[in-house]
Amino acid sequence: KFIWDAMNVDIDGKKTLAMSFFSKEGNPLWGQYSTQVVAHTLRSYGARTIAYPYPVAISCHATAGGGMEYPMISFNGGRPEADGTYSEQTKAGMIGVIIHEVGHNFFPMIVNSDERQWSWMDEGLNTFCQYLAEQEWDRNFPSRRGEPQEIVNYMKSAPNTQVPIMASSDNVLQFGPNAYAKPATGLNILRETVMGRELFDYAFKEYARRWAFKSPTPADFFRTMEDASGVDLDWFWKGWFYSIDAADQELTDVQWLAIDPMDPAITKAAAKAEADRRKRTLAVERNKTDIKQTVVEKIPEMNDFYNSYDRYAVTEADKKKYTDFVASLSEDEKKLFQSGKNFYTLNLKNNGGLVMPVIAKADYEDGSSEVFRFPAEIWRFNDKEIKKVIPTDKKVTRWTIDPFYEIADINADNNSYPRQAAQPTRFQLYKQRASPFAPQGPNPMQQQRQSKPSAVQGSQGRN
Ligand SMILES: [Zn+2]
Repeated sequence: KFIWDAMNVDIDGKKTLAMSFFSKEGNPLWGQYSTQVVAHTLRSYGARTIAYPYPVAISCHATAGGGMEYPMISFNGGRPEADGTYSEQTKAGMIGVIIHEVGHNFFPMIVNSDERQWSWMDEGLNTFCQYLAEQEWDRNFPSRRGEPQEIVNYMKSAPNTQVPIMASSDNVLQFGPNAYAKPATGLNILRETVMGRELFDYAFKEYARRWAFKSPTPADFFRTMEDASGVDLDWFWKGWFYSIDAADQELTDVQWLAIDPMDPAITKAAAKAEADRRKRTLAVERNKTDIKQTVVEKIPEMNDFYNSYDRYAVTEADKKKYTDFVASLSEDEKKLFQSGKNFYTLNLKNNGGLVMPVIAKADYEDGSSEVFRFPAEIWRFNDKEIKKVIPTDKKVTRWTIDPFYEIADINADNNSYPRQAAQPTRFQLYKQRASPFAPQGPNPMQQQRQSKPSAVQGSQGRN
């Protein structure tokens, strides 16, 4: 026996039925969420691709976990406990899998790529749209795939356990990360970091529009994303889709340069302070008391011009030289000269092989910060090692690259300069017995019920 739930979804003025079938054991999750998730998927995917063209979309609760797609109907997991409670993972897994399986109507059923040859073309694009739909569903949705930092463990897994995304489906290793997560993450990086949302969304929609009810191959996808956006993405396809290289940018060193003020009043005072500092040696300090009197102190006649000469005093000649220099500058040169700017040369290494944009954050001494973004073309003449000069008005206390975890950098320990203070590896004072096979404790809904008066239990138990 199945419960039948349905609602109308307006798709460009056309009524489409979003429906769910589920046994009562699926409640309360299924009655509350399934049909709304189907409706949301049709709207969300439709906005990014083409309007859903079919009369119905069905989510049927038929498995404990996982899901499977068919045209207009899908079979999905997500089963609450017998007492009606469920874990957060069960809820997120159910909503995520319904979005995913209903989403397959768009890839590969409408945009009919060959999933046997190129699994990523439907699973990857679908997982990408799933991630976006999940975030539109709930700001705190615990999406497993999509954010670049979620792919880091896969990207640093042993090279002999990875193949490029552009491997024939039968030869793919680590199928989930390879065909679902990595292509989805790559599209997210293109959207957020390489192309920007507006250009990406336009090109992605154009791909769906061109290839709806046709059978695209990878080249059709790559070409459409480029010619619809006007962005050269060859380097990205080569690195992310045709290789197993990972991103590991390293900020090896930063040189700080400032313009020499040239003003003798400043430069000579600084030179004097430095000379005085260097004169405070151990021997000089001891001589102060050890040598009771020098010859020059004892016999005044031993003094001459140089005993009172101040080599750090600013002379008339110094002043004239400086004013002549300033007068010789053009207006632009004068502006730069008087700006007081700092110039930081960032030395960057590409240790992972994968070329990616460089995002550098400057933390200033006054507590504020600024972000500088450079496209991947920064590596075009040398994809191993580059220098980039960044002028700033304020003094920088720390530089950090990839501060927002955008490029799936597999080693974040070498991303700041000066390096962050080392964190201790924490060890526990006594050994905890933590077996992965130990029975799991009650889920948070059950824990809360246990701590509440029985009246609550009773009322919920009869639902
Ligand atoms: Zn799938």
